[in-house]
Amino acid sequence: MHVLIIGAGLGGLTLAQTLRKQGISFEVFERDEDENGRFQGWAIALHTIIDEFLAALPSDMPDLKQSTDHLAPLNLRHQFAYYYGGREGCYGLEDSPETPFIRAERSRLRKWLLTDITVNWGKALTDITQDDEGVSVTFKDGTTARGDIAVGADGVYSPARQHLLQRPSTDLLHLVPLMAIVGELDLSGDAFKRQLGLGHSAYNLINPELGFIGFVGLHYVFPDGQGGRFYWMFMQPDTEDITDAKHWLQTSSQQEKLDHVRKTVRGLPLKLREIFELTPPEGVRKEPHIWRDLELDTLPSSRVALLGDAAHAMTPSRGEGAFHAFIDAMKLSKTIAGLQADAKYKDINAVKAAVGEYHTEMLRRGTAAVRASRSSYQEAKKRAETGEHFTSGMKPLSIEPIVLAARG
Ligand SMILES: Cc1cc2nc3c(=O)[nH]c(=O)nc-3n(C[C@H](O)[C@H](O)[C@H](O)COP(=O)(O)OP(=O)(O)OC[C@H]3O[C@@H](n4cnc5c(N)ncnc54)[C@H](O)[C@@H]3O)c2cc1C
Repeated sequence: MHVLIIGAGLGGLTLAQTLRKQGISFEVFERDEDENGRFQGWAIALHTIIDEFLAALPSDMPDLKQSTDHLAPLNLRHQFAYYYGGREGCYGLEDSPETPFIRAERSRLRKWLLTDITVNWGKALTDITQDDEGVSVTFKDGTTARGDIAVGADGVYSPARQHLLQRPSTDLLHLVPLMAIVGELDLSGDAFKRQLGLGHSAYNLINPELGFIGFVGLHYVFPDGQGGRFYWMFMQPDTEDITDAKHWLQTSSQQEKLDHVRKTVRGLPLKLREIFELTPPEGVRKEPHIWRDLELDTLPSSRVALLGDAAHAMTPSRGEGAFHAFIDAMKLSKTIAGLQADAKYKDINAVKAAVGEYHTEMLRRGTAAVRASRSSYQEAKKRAETGEHFTSGMKPLSIEPIVLAARG
C-alpha cells in the first residue's frame, strides 16, 4: 500500500512519522520550495496528548522538549498564565511531572517532525483523480504521483478539499467577527525579565470589561539568554466587515493601530500593558488579521481523506488547531494500518467504510473545537464574570523573580 500526503505542515508530517513507525510506504508533497519557504508561526503548546503523541512516533526521534524548547537556553519552566480583569493574582498551566506542558517554537517543531522524512518540495497540488483501483495526484509543475490513499493535509485553503467537495474555499470558509492587531518586538535586560515574570511562556489578558482580550507570547530566547522576541495579539469583537477595504483596520497606519491598542488597554496595571507601551509602531503588523473558520457536516468516503485545518480550520484563541491535527494524524494512521492488513486497501468498499468512519469522528471532534474557538470572546466574557477557568488543570501560579541563567 502507498499513501500520498499532500502538505508538509504539522498534521501532514505527524502522519508521515506515524506511517514511518509502522513501516507503511508514503510520499510527502509540499508546495513550498524548501523548509524555509514560509514563516511557520510563533509557538504552540503541547500538553494533554504528549504521551500518546510520542508513543505514536518512531523511537529514533530526538527529545521533543530539548529540540523545540522556546525558552532555551534559559532554564525556566514552561508556563502559561491568565490574568482576569478585576481579579487579583494569576492562574495558569505549568510544566510539572504530573502535568507535562511544552511550549514549542514552531520552526523547531517542524524541523523535529522532519526527522528522517523526505519531502518532495515545490509540489503544489492542482488535481486529484481516483477510481476503484487507486488515486492519482497532479502538481502545478505537471508531474503526477499514484497511490492507494491520498491525504489532504494542505491547510485552510486546501485544494484537496476543493476536489472532494467540488466547492471553492470562498464558499466554505466563514469570516469570524473578531478583529485582531498583531505586534512583535525584541526585549532585553529588565524589560525582558519583567515579561518572563508575567508567565514564562505566554499570558492571556481576559479583559472584556475593557472591551478586549489579549495574548502575549515569547517566540524565542536569543542564544546569549539575555533577551528574546515577543509577539502579541489584541482582539475585539468586530461589528463591521473587516474584509471591506473601507474598514478602519484596512486603512489605518501602524501608529494608528498601536494608538488604538494603547488607548483600549489604558485601564490595565502598568505591568500588564508594558508590552504594548514598549512596542514600536514598526513592530505592528501592517496588514489586518482576518480569521476564517470552517464547519463541515460531512465529507465523501473515498480514497481521499482530509486532516487538520483542511477539515476544521479554527481561530487560534483556544490553541487547539494543531492539537486536533495531531489527533487526526494519529487516528488516520490507525485507519490506514487497518487497510494495509490483509490488503483491504484493494477493496474500494473497505476503503470507503474505513475512511468514512475516520471522517465522521474527525469532523464531530474538530467541528466542536471550531465552534468553541469561534465563541472565545463571549466565553471569556462569561468566565470573567463567573470566575470559571478555561481549561482543567489551571492553578494559581506563584511567579518567582527571574534569573537569566542559561542551562549548565
Ligand atoms: C497565530 C496562530 C497561532 C496558533 N497557535 C496554536 C496553538 O497554540 N496551538 C494549536 O494547537 N494550534 C495553534 N494554531 C493552529 C495551527 O497553526 C494549525 O491548526 C495547524 O498548523 C494545522 O496544521 P495542518 O497541518 O492542518 O496545516 P498547516 O500547518 O497549515 O500545513 C498545511 C501545509 O500544506 C501546504 N500546502 C498548501 N497548499 C498546498 C498545495 N496545493 N500543494 C501542496 N502543499 C500545500 C502548506 O504550504 C503547508 O505546509 C495557531 C494558528 C495561528 C494562525
